[in-house]
Amino acid sequence: MKTKVLDKTQFEVAADILKHGGVVGIPTETVYGLAADALNGKAVEKIFKAKGRPMDNPLIVHVADFSDIEKFNLVSEVPENAKILAKAFWPGPLTIIMKRTDVIPPEVSAGLDTVAIRFPSHPIAQEIIRVAGTPLAAPSANLSGSPSPTTARHVLNDMDGKIDAVLDGGSCEVGVESTVITLAADVPRVLRPGGITVEELRDVLGEVEVDDAVIHQLAEGVTAASPGMKYKHYAPKANVLLLKGSDDAYISYVNSHSDDDVCALCCDEDLLLLKTKTVSLGRRNDYLTHARHLFDCLRRIDENKTIRTVYSRLPDVEGVGLAVYNRLIRAAGFEVIDLEKI
Ligand code: AMP
Ligand code: MG
Repeated sequence: MKTKVLDKTQFEVAADILKHGGVVGIPTETVYGLAADALNGKAVEKIFKAKGRPMDNPLIVHVADFSDIEKFNLVSEVPENAKILAKAFWPGPLTIIMKRTDVIPPEVSAGLDTVAIRFPSHPIAQEIIRVAGTPLAAPSANLSGSPSPTTARHVLNDMDGKIDAVLDGGSCEVGVESTVITLAADVPRVLRPGGITVEELRDVLGEVEVDDAVIHQLAEGVTAASPGMKYKHYAPKANVLLLKGSDDAYISYVNSHSDDDVCALCCDEDLLLLKTKTVSLGRRNDYLTHARHLFDCLRRIDENKTIRTVYSRLPDVEGVGLAVYNRLIRAAGFEVIDLEKI
């Protein structure tokens, strides 16, 4: 299959492909999504095939307005908390899980009785959904397990020849995927941290729990509330190791392990102190910038084919830092070296 590259004026071409059951890489404010008609199980199946995604990992359904949820009869009931969240954060990087109806094909919900819904703020994504006239299922447009794509070039690197088209809308503003919150539990619970922080959610909802799987590796045999959380994910081909400790301890550990095949994923302030290859996420404590750059940094590390080991600092868990932590700890397969204990 030849993958067409569309420019940002060609959203109607993208929408037309989607209407006819095709698959298109589309820009959103979080990461690029691999979109298909969410109400067409056959079209959705193509997403799983292109990504090599396990069929038990459900997809997020993207709408172009809050009213689309009722218009397309996607959920059995819109909880009061969903209205509060939508008012505060939609359109934007927040996905809300609610009880689904039978309109949702089994491929989308992966056998669960719930559906995850998001109203993205990216104007091109909104236009494509509106013109396609149907909600779009759209996971991140990377090969399953790889870092998510934040540019059309990243999408092509993974998907060229596997999908109908990609629409180039430039770089993604947020850079990490949406926050996923479920309202199907007794207390609202964050299953995946992202662009909207836990602190912001607590400000509008009061009590909000954070699922254990956000920070910790799931114990053997425990069922993941969010199936995507159980996989090693976001990983470059190089081996990522997370270092826990002070700034000085990080610098001295990396410098004493410096080699031709080593790279430090670091902050701007470290650049002059490190005696090895470096890729910077941005200024220290600027978590929004770290999130925006994270996946591009991981992909750039892989483009340098000699790099086998990446030393990154364990991120802080405040604000959007929690989303960066959640992605990096999975990229590292939960491998953390405590510098105070060596
Ligand atoms: P991605 O599509 O790559 O952004 O990943 C979507 C994430 O949302 C994955 O971690 C899924 O497991 C999770 N997800 C989607 N739908 C549901 C659902 N109905 N219940 C729980 N988690 C979900
Ligand atoms: Mg993904």
